[in-house]
Amino acid sequence: MSIPSSTSPLVDRFGRRVNYLRISITDRCDFRCIYCMNEDMSFLPRAQILTLEEIETIARAFVELGVEKIRITGGEPLVRKGVLDLLSHLGPLQGLRELVMTTNGSQLEAMAEDLKAAGVQRLNISLDTLDPERFRQMTRVGNLHQVLRGIDAAVRVGFKRIKLNAVIMKNRNHREVGELAAFAVDRGIDISFIEEMPLGVVDSHDRAEEYYSSDEIRQELERRFTLLPSPENTGGPSRYFRLVGTHSRVGFISPHSHNFCASCNRVRLTVEGKLLLCLGNEHSVDLKRVLRAHPGDTGKLKKAIVDALLIKPERHEFDLKEQPLIFRHMSVTGG
Ligand code: SAM
Ligand code: SF4
Repeated sequence: MSIPSSTSPLVDRFGRRVNYLRISITDRCDFRCIYCMNEDMSFLPRAQILTLEEIETIARAFVELGVEKIRITGGEPLVRKGVLDLLSHLGPLQGLRELVMTTNGSQLEAMAEDLKAAGVQRLNISLDTLDPERFRQMTRVGNLHQVLRGIDAAVRVGFKRIKLNAVIMKNRNHREVGELAAFAVDRGIDISFIEEMPLGVVDSHDRAEEYYSSDEIRQELERRFTLLPSPENTGGPSRYFRLVGTHSRVGFISPHSHNFCASCNRVRLTVEGKLLLCLGNEHSVDLKRVLRAHPGDTGKLKKAIVDALLIKPERHEFDLKEQPLIFRHMSVTGG
């Protein structure tokens, strides 16, 4: 049974209520985006990762504690075998209002319909560029046309909402922000522009040198569109604006220029079973250990989750000019 949100025990020391869980169901991916991974990555052995049943048990405990929104992410969530079964078990959990997913789009052409049938309501699809050559450079291995076909398939299927996610890097794709927004407008979908975060050491570029701020992106967009601040909030870190005269919204995820920690309502579960209390800090609790030490005892699991909130930090500590404080890559963290 889920409990009323007003009495949820998931409240941290700063009075923030956690009602949103992001679950990374794999650290593997068919792309190698330069801001997320290195070309040569080693992935976790099977024994170290949560089984789908364990993920479901943890998700159920969170929902019973008052979580209302779950995002399935990765790595690339659609490369994990059994993902559709997992989704179809999570969707009906009583008290869960939204089951959503972040994907790179590579498998969507074949899977969009099944995802909707399995209960996914909204999709975030990553798309940083519309130039095939640049797409290949930024993902190292990805095929733009495959992803564009995936996006079109998702649009046809008719999710409640689709949003593109674009990480913008100076002198790489920053000149494309207007084109990317126009692409979203043409399809009646939303788009968020993301400032690159220093998660894990990457060998392809200097993050500080390629930093491009949300304010610069906004100025660029204002040459083409009228942006109207929108009070809408999807329960994530984006600040939204309506693009006047269109059905689309544009969001900005600005960890460097507009800190969003005061309204943080989320925690992350890694595929290793670690509960991360903050994207930009190492504070974590090993839920896999609790689960495997006390099989079937959801009381112990729930207590570990409630207690974990006591170490949720006040804010992230990102600093682009320093070596990263966070050594895990975004693919492990679950973006
Ligand atoms: N593979 C899926 C995808 O790419 O959409 C889901 C996982 S990916 C880690 C989730 C999101 O994190 C993507 O939108 C990606 O662009 C973003 N991301 C990855 N590394 C990032 C970084 N260092 N800074 C900011 N965003 C990042
Ligand atoms: Fe894979 Fe997503 Fe990371 Fe790109 S951002 S390497 S698609 S997990």
